[in-house]
Amino acid sequence: MVHTRPPLSEAATAFLARRGRGEGLLIAGTWRAAASTFETVDPATGDCIGVLPRGGAAEIDEAVAAARGALPGWKATTPVNRAKILWAMADLIEAHIDELAELETLDQGKPLFVGRWAEIPGAVNQFRFFAGQAMAIEGQTIESSIDYQPAGRKMATWTRREPVGVVGAIVPWNSPIVLTAMKLAPALAAGCTIVLKPAENTSLTALRLGELLAEAGLPAGVFNVVTGLGGEAGAALAGHPGVDKIAFTGSTQTGRAIIDAAKGNLKRVSLELGGKSPMIVMPDADLDLAIPGVANAIFFNGGQVCVAGSRLYVHSAIRDALLEGVAAYAKGLVAGHGLDPATQMGPLVSAAQAQRVEGFIADARAAGATVLTGGSRFGAAGTFIQPTVITDVTPDMPIVRDEVFGPVLVAQAFDDADAVIAAANDSDYGLAASVWTQSLSHAHRMADALEAGTVWINCHLMYDAALPIGGVKQSGYGRDSGRAALDSYLEWKTVCAVV
Ligand code: NAD
Repeated sequence: MVHTRPPLSEAATAFLARRGRGEGLLIAGTWRAAASTFETVDPATGDCIGVLPRGGAAEIDEAVAAARGALPGWKATTPVNRAKILWAMADLIEAHIDELAELETLDQGKPLFVGRWAEIPGAVNQFRFFAGQAMAIEGQTIESSIDYQPAGRKMATWTRREPVGVVGAIVPWNSPIVLTAMKLAPALAAGCTIVLKPAENTSLTALRLGELLAEAGLPAGVFNVVTGLGGEAGAALAGHPGVDKIAFTGSTQTGRAIIDAAKGNLKRVSLELGGKSPMIVMPDADLDLAIPGVANAIFFNGGQVCVAGSRLYVHSAIRDALLEGVAAYAKGLVAGHGLDPATQMGPLVSAAQAQRVEGFIADARAAGATVLTGGSRFGAAGTFIQPTVITDVTPDMPIVRDEVFGPVLVAQAFDDADAVIAAANDSDYGLAASVWTQSLSHAHRMADALEAGTVWINCHLMYDAALPIGGVKQSGYGRDSGRAALDSYLEWKTVCAVV
């Protein structure tokens, strides 16, 4: 099968001509090149779509110096002026949403509707939510409990919230715009300045966001972008002594490297890492809701979603009906180039990722698992994997324990509610979980008992800029979104005065 690319719009073509020819470093408000470059490709065709600067330690040094230089001015900007810029940014993203969706699809492979109707509106909401939060930063006045009070005087004590400082943001390739917005919006609201290292596979929209932020009125140097490889630009940023916090989203393995690199100056670290999120379908579940819900939870964006529902636990009484429905949904998905409006499932981001996913499926087959539907690669570029459902697995198989990050669902049946909670919690990960039931009692009990940063009831993948999202266990620590994210870009300062 050949996945030809539909023509690009004028806006996207103009952007590629402007920023896709090696001049994509944004440092101190200026666009420029690095000493060397790398190529970014369209995963559906394998064609090169742009050449990007391969930044390294020297470029990171310059970008961190720019962010540090811009910090006093940005920190001193009044909250309402920070809010206005964030709100203007939300408006600009909306005004350019078709172009951004097209660039994201071209670079990542996702079907157009995923960016256009889910992820980019999600990014807009991040900027709007944190525009409000910028004007709601509060310290406290606290009655001092110190026994000693100087004669004729009094202790006055209060706290202030101050920006953490220079933030290094490092993001992965699965949902670039929204994951970037989840770092930028709270950091900017808090008064921090930023150096962003986008994923090497999907840097294009980060550059467009840099242009739009300047148009929104963000002063030069507050937001800097250094494109490049993880082991070069990423490692240099994580270890840089001039960076106060690393806000990282990516794999658990890289998260460990970030902690090591960050220890030199004890920089703050927040880690949004991998997952192997369970979905528990109880016998009383509404199957009209559960079948498309479960299928979408694993096949949306080709399963390249940190919170994808990749482990299914379904009660034996409804196992066959549920799996039949999910398999039919999988078979009905239209695969193709993401820019074709008919496409419901695009390629995986790279040939390497497709090989990795295929390896998991082959190992599971060899260990005795059954492929109920899907299970194969297809297409000329080698990055398409069929939506796949696997049964007859055992809890120790890598396909059950490890993050596959592809359209692969492993299904197991259960009979006992307590046993299924134990099975769901038997994982190194703890990012998200969902429970499908009409019983309030099951819903509450399971929401309490599941070891996960988010538990969804009768839904999955419900992102909201107002709701904290992040992991427990080896899915990381810290939270994106919600008030919790703003707090993570703020320090407490205590002031204690004799007046
Ligand atoms: P990855 O860890 O390989 O890369 C993520 C980013 O880190 C990239 O920008 C990469 O260049 C950079 N990087 C790689 N090595 C580095 C190093 N030594 N030092 C500094 N930076 C380095 O992850 P990926 O394959 O791009 O993304 C998929 C992973 O991201 C999955 O595990 C997925 O679950 C996770 N993810 C988590 C969330 C969440 O919110 N928890 C969201 C999306 C994706």
